[in-house]
Amino acid sequence: MKLKDWNNARRKLKVDFERQGITRCEKCNGNFALSFGHRLKRRYITTTEELTTVALLCQICHEDLEHGGHDRMYDEITRIIEAR
Ligand SMILES: [Zn+2]
Repeated sequence: MKLKDWNNARRKLKVDFERQGITRCEKCNGNFALSFGHRLKRRYITTTEELTTVALLCQICHEDLEHGGHDRMYDEITRIIEAR
């Protein structure tokens, strides 16, 4: 997936999330340097569906998941999304 594709998707996601009232970290409810976290590393993402399957995370939670192993990242983000 190209960076340009992600930039376009991110713009739409930001609007969608605000409309849904998701404006804080979905893991800790913090609001420090929020960004979207994927279940997969971006280089492994090949579909629009996976590109837009994200949780809103603060930088601390995002880094924690990024360094916690692929399986944990996948499972935690899936769990966050299912719990909405
Ligand atoms: Zn957080």
